[in-house]
Parts: sequence; C-alpha cells; structure tokens
Amino acid sequence: MIRAYKYRIYPNLEQKVLIEKHFGCARFVFNWALALQKRYYSLFKKSLSRSQIQSQLVKKKKTERFAWLNEVNSQSLLNALLNVHTAFTNFFKGRAKFPRFKSKKRPRRSYQNPQHGSVNFDNGTIDLPKLKGIKAKFSREFVGKVKTVTVSETATGKYFASILVENEDVLPVATTVESSLTIGIDLGISHLLILSNGTKFDNAKHLAKASRRLAVQQKIFARKQKQSKNYQKQKLAVARIHEKVRHQRLDLHHQITHQLVCKNQATSFGVEDLAVKNMVKNRKLAKAISDAAWGQFVTLLSYKAKWHGKNVLKVNRFFASSKLCSHCDHKLDSLPLSVRSWICPSCQLEHDRDLNASNNIRRQALADVAGLATV
Ligand SMILES: [Zn+2]
Repeated sequence: MIRAYKYRIYPNLEQKVLIEKHFGCARFVFNWALALQKRYYSLFKKSLSRSQIQSQLVKKKKTERFAWLNEVNSQSLLNALLNVHTAFTNFFKGRAKFPRFKSKKRPRRSYQNPQHGSVNFDNGTIDLPKLKGIKAKFSREFVGKVKTVTVSETATGKYFASILVENEDVLPVATTVESSLTIGIDLGISHLLILSNGTKFDNAKHLAKASRRLAVQQKIFARKQKQSKNYQKQKLAVARIHEKVRHQRLDLHHQITHQLVCKNQATSFGVEDLAVKNMVKNRKLAKAISDAAWGQFVTLLSYKAKWHGKNVLKVNRFFASSKLCSHCDHKLDSLPLSVRSWICPSCQLEHDRDLNASNNIRRQALADVAGLATV
C-alpha cells in the first residue's frame, strides 16, 4: 500500500539556492520537451517516444551551453520529461487538454526526486540527491520504503516535502454495497454538506471569516498599480490569507471525512463526480463553494474509505438531482436557487431542497451499482 506524507522543511541558504536551481532546471526541461513535442506533433501528428526524447536530453547536457543542467539531480530532469510524456498521453487519450508551458510566475513551484530520498527521524532531517540533511519537522513518523519525494515552495516562501511511502500493509477488501448502509452526500446551499440521512455539516465560522477577508484583500490587490512596491506587498498578503483558507479547509475536510468513514456505520457513500457538479451548479454557487474544495473532499473521502474497506460511489452522469422528487420521480421544470423547500405537485411530499438532492444522489449511486452487477 502507498501512503503520502507531507512535512514542512527548513532548508538553509545554500540548500535554498540548490532547490531553486532544481525548480528552474525542471521547469526548463519540461518546457523544452514540450516545445519539441509540439513541433513534432505539428509535423507528424504523433508524439516522440520517451527514449527518443531522453536521448535528445542526454545530448543537450553534453553541450557547453547547457552544462548547467548537470548541477542538479539528473533523475529529477528525467522526471520532468516523464511529466511531459504523461501529459501528451492524456491529451491523446482525450483525458486532458493540450499541455501548457510552465510559467516562472507560478505561485507554487516544485520538482520531484523519483528515488534515493530518505528520512532520518532521529536527526529530524531529510536527505535528497544533491541535498543532504535538510531540516524537517516530522509531525508523524512512518514505516516503509520511500518512493518519490516532491519538494515544493508556496507563494509565501514555505518549503514542503511530500513523500510517497510504500509499506507492507494490505488494503482491506471492500465490503459489498448495501442500500441500508449507503448514504448520499451533496453540497448544500445553506450548509457545507448535507447527507441523505438528514445530517448537516456547517461551514466552519473561522473559514467563512477568512474567506471574506480574502475577498476584501483581493479587491485591494486588484486596484494596486502593477510592479509597484505596494503591489508586491499586497500580493504576499493575499497569498498568506489564501494559504490560511486552504489550510483551514483541508483541516475541516479531514475532520468531516474522518467522522464519516470512521465514526459512522455507513459502508458506502454516494457522491457526484466533479465534472457533473460543474454541469449542474450555476456560476454563482460554484464560486461560493469552489470546485477545488469539492475535488479535495471527494479525494480525502475516497482514500479513507479505501483504507477501511468502504466504498465511494461516484455518480458520473448528469441527472437533475435537485429538481427530481426523490419519492415519486416527478421532475420539476425549474427550481430557482432561492427556493429552499418545495412541495411535490405529484405526491404532495414536502422536500428540503438539499436533503432531496442528497437522497437522489444516494438512489442514483445505488442504481449504478445494481446496473453494473447485472452486466
Ligand atoms: Zn413526488
């Protein structure tokens, strides 16, 4: 089983310079390989193979002009090539848009070490190729083999190491889906989440407060003159609040998913796929909730469920979850966002808008499972 651990690291000045070089070289190689692939694609409508592009890089590194590429971990550069290759494969298979160049101005910068990373919990350090003894704060320890280590720097200048660890644990076999132990989960309008069993989760107040503060600071930022001293200052202020909001949201999502998976009898959870969410919700609401947040929630829920042998059932096709009566299947023509409850004209049942939607998601998830079982 593979698990991910993320630790804050504190590189010294010398290490910072070298990390900076790795960011730069990895980005350069990524952009160079992408440009090469683009040219090749425009000529031949196909992409270069991994080994073809790899041998081009080896040649390039031998020239005097590009000798500086040898100052960094060569595996990290190969990894950047691999990322271009994967991006192209995804594009050709219709899974992703055409890959884009990486800008120097990206707020979060990173590079990967596909092997030879190790941690020393006693000393509180991490060793990486070309970078030995980086100080780290280990919030928790792990047992297992270190696979890849990704080093990143946030917009506010904090450094992190994300470590993928392989251990001997075996994932439990997922239980069979039972309708009585299945709950549907939807994003609410007046609540953060609403479950088909009637449980509601509220948005944490401090998160809402920080989000409002972020909106205010962003407005101030938009008015600043570009490249002035105050512009840079305000940019950092916005990045700081942004980081805080993200952190608080992640914390909240961890708490809720833990509660759902570990402190709940339910063994299956029905949720709408993000792509479907984008289709259904209008722009205003999407902005209020933020797509990234929903994706993160589903990701956390999915891996925690997996560890506990539970199921996350993703409903990945469009259906009118809000406008459909979960009791008699009557479909309303329209249901404005301002309407929080309604009475079904066909069966006369009164519905809480959000609860009805999560009930429908539960039903659809179970129907999908039943459909798969009969194939
Ligand atoms: Zn009805």
